[in-house]
Amino acid sequence: MNNEINKRIESISQQLQNNLVGLLREIIAIPSMNGQEGAVIERLKEEMENIGYEEVWVDPMGNLFGRMGSGEKVLAIDGHADTVDIGNPDLWEVDPFGGEIRDGCIYGRGACDQKGGLAAAVYAGKMMQEVGMPDNTSFLVVASVFEENFEGLSWQYIVNEDKIIPDAVLLTEPTNLGIRIGQRGRLELKVQTEGVSCHGSAPERGRNAIYMMAPVIQEIEQLNSRLKEDNFLGKGSITISDIRSTAPSLCAVADSATIHLDRRLTRGETMDSALQEIKSLPSVIKSNANVSIPEYKPVSYTGLKYPANAYYPMWALEKSHPLVQTAVKAFEAQFHETPDVDKWVFSTNGVATMGSFNIPTIGFGPGEEKFAHAANELVPIVHLVKALSFYASFIYHWGK
Ligand SMILES: [Zn+2]
Repeated sequence: MNNEINKRIESISQQLQNNLVGLLREIIAIPSMNGQEGAVIERLKEEMENIGYEEVWVDPMGNLFGRMGSGEKVLAIDGHADTVDIGNPDLWEVDPFGGEIRDGCIYGRGACDQKGGLAAAVYAGKMMQEVGMPDNTSFLVVASVFEENFEGLSWQYIVNEDKIIPDAVLLTEPTNLGIRIGQRGRLELKVQTEGVSCHGSAPERGRNAIYMMAPVIQEIEQLNSRLKEDNFLGKGSITISDIRSTAPSLCAVADSATIHLDRRLTRGETMDSALQEIKSLPSVIKSNANVSIPEYKPVSYTGLKYPANAYYPMWALEKSHPLVQTAVKAFEAQFHETPDVDKWVFSTNGVATMGSFNIPTIGFGPGEEKFAHAANELVPIVHLVKALSFYASFIYHWGK
């Protein structure tokens, strides 16, 4: 019986290919940088309404939802609608907003990261109308905002404010059609030393904040080599991404110095453990440096301000987890081969869904991770069709 369903999914995916390609080209043509997703959300909402999603709405932050089915098991299929900037236009051989097709691939900013996955998710609704939803299941396709600068922030809002808590989440970021089950986390930290300024001609009268920072910098470099390794997620890491100082003039002793740290967190590392690690460095204690996590208050395209602290927890599911097993089964039934099951190198909304809220989360999407944020970004059309087939097969296997 399974086999029949998978054959139908395969043939309907082929029939939907032109619509799917058309939608993707249209949404590539609508620029939607982080915080400016309004127009693309509007277009996707219209598509969901045309397809006949049972309920379509936009929340106050600007995240778009389309619901299909009314069973009590709820799957969220998330794709972020924002993209990064195009970068240096001279590096592009195609119009970044042209949605051009060459050699079976669609080109443009967001093609791979991740308007391709989002378009396929929207068409999963159409597909399930044809195939039929499992009775006990419903799914929400979520076109979320803010991911590129504040991954997970949309889902902080969806869970905490919208009070929507799905039973599982499927992320549609690029995976080269493999299954992704985890990633390292990320934390930003700020370390500040305060000195005493005086005239630069007599530095002995003051205390130079930059000199106080110098041993902190060395100890952070040494800390990086001591951080722990995880077989699956890789090593935790730390690096200094920015340094600045203040002084009353360039002829004075510096009265403050600040460094910004990029800390990647592997299994077992948390905000508290990483913060404590820095606070307990001998040089930080000696200089009485202040260690903090930066806070941001981004404004969404709807005008909503929502606070974000720069902590994005790591997450990982075991390969034996039922959700991963379901994904593997859905893949094998659809494509008759064994899927690649691995981690993401980059960061995703999984930092919130699984990292903060412990909702079982996996990823599957068209396109290769290496094209994300790159010039001449592309997604193969065959990937789009296969992603659509996988989403349908997954919904079917997850629900029954
Ligand atoms: Zn992305």
